[in-house]
Amino acid sequence: MLNFFRHLEHHKFCILVEYLTSSKTHHVVQNIASFSAFIAIADRLHSDHDMAPLEASQHYPESVDKVLHFAGKGRDIQDFELFLQQAKAANINNLLLLTGDKLKEHCHGQEGPPRTRYLESVNAVMVAKRHGGFHLGVAFNPFKYAEAERDAQYLKLHKKLKAGADFIITQLGYDMDALKQAKAFLKHYHYPQKILACVMPLSLARANFMVKNKVAGIVITPHMLKVLADEKQVGLSDRVYLRCALQILIFKHLGFAGVHLSACHKREEQMLLESYIEQYQHLDLVALEALWNSLWQVKTGKEFVPELPYYSRQPTSSQLIKYQQLHFMHEALFESKIAKGVGHFIFKASFWEHTPAAKALLKTEFISKHGVVGCESCGQCRLGDTLYICPETCPKGLANGPCGGTTLDRCEFGDRECIHSVKARLAKAVGQTDVLKEKLIPTVPIKVRGTSSWKNWYLATET
Ligand code: SF4
Repeated sequence: MLNFFRHLEHHKFCILVEYLTSSKTHHVVQNIASFSAFIAIADRLHSDHDMAPLEASQHYPESVDKVLHFAGKGRDIQDFELFLQQAKAANINNLLLLTGDKLKEHCHGQEGPPRTRYLESVNAVMVAKRHGGFHLGVAFNPFKYAEAERDAQYLKLHKKLKAGADFIITQLGYDMDALKQAKAFLKHYHYPQKILACVMPLSLARANFMVKNKVAGIVITPHMLKVLADEKQVGLSDRVYLRCALQILIFKHLGFAGVHLSACHKREEQMLLESYIEQYQHLDLVALEALWNSLWQVKTGKEFVPELPYYSRQPTSSQLIKYQQLHFMHEALFESKIAKGVGHFIFKASFWEHTPAAKALLKTEFISKHGVVGCESCGQCRLGDTLYICPETCPKGLANGPCGGTTLDRCEFGDRECIHSVKARLAKAVGQTDVLKEKLIPTVPIKVRGTSSWKNWYLATET
């Protein structure tokens, strides 16, 4: 059997064909044109209740190596540990670990069912790395056009790679400059990890669907819609596959390790794509890019970039003052040797085990922090590693950085500015970007939630 990861190691360009577990079609090919093809099985893309990728993998031939997606939406670390054991038993060792988009049945947790939790990709990579025996992929969205959200994406990519990711698969997108930047980033920081680009034959219907449904993290501009609509009107719909073929050939020239091919799992679609790859593979990079640009009617280079509304690009003075005050308090009350010694002495008393005392302590902590930072008593305070912006104020509860779903600094949930953009902007202003780049913040165990982080902090410190 051809081995996906060995292909990456040996610099052999390959195509990962994505299948949805809701799909009835299981047509599998071992190559598309001259490129080896492998199977990628997506996790709950169609609905929150899609069949699990592991279960779905049994419906595909054993002779083709697979990459299974695991999305952290609605999952915790225990679910992931179980998944790893099952994957190992099923001989699956290529995983793409994602935080995932918003669960369609997301619960905010104010009333009714508990708040939906999201296992962050950084934490999943850390755990899978400890298990050993897996080749780990992570997702990356380079299509961010506000400075802070782009910074936040790259800062988190540093963390994913430091946590142990072996390869990267980008978000679906058509802005070749943004993809070239991602490749240049890896080179600049001497990261050896391989990168694959996500491609999809973009028809007018698919583009309209993504715009109408605001599919998280995907950028389709009015210019792109117009080009596709004009083509459809004059019967040039096959250009959809020609463009996809050109993208694949361009990525090969640019040194990408391969592509993740979405929405092209029917044989007739693959044959059309294959015929265009074969027809144009003799062209060099300059000719391929020229053809790509002419098909998209590129004149200024900004045709794939969304319109940027005006917004403040600096942290506000109140954000800066709040940071300075909280930083001063944190250093004095939690980081100094005296504070750690006194705190440890106070909280080691068995008195705090008694329920009324524990309840009073938790309430005091909540009252003093909720109004200031939005504390939700997670029991493992991470404020010192998040520039005093509580990760629980992210609807997905992400501490290590943003998911890929923001749009011009707006959260995927649409009701607020992304806290990770705020953090990235603040970090730049106060010279703390290394904290957001280096510090891998562990996930919060369920049993710790609803306990006092003060007590947990002092008891965990060495005196
Ligand atoms: S990180 Fe946890 S303990 Fe700290 S403020 Fe946020 S919810 Fe509260």
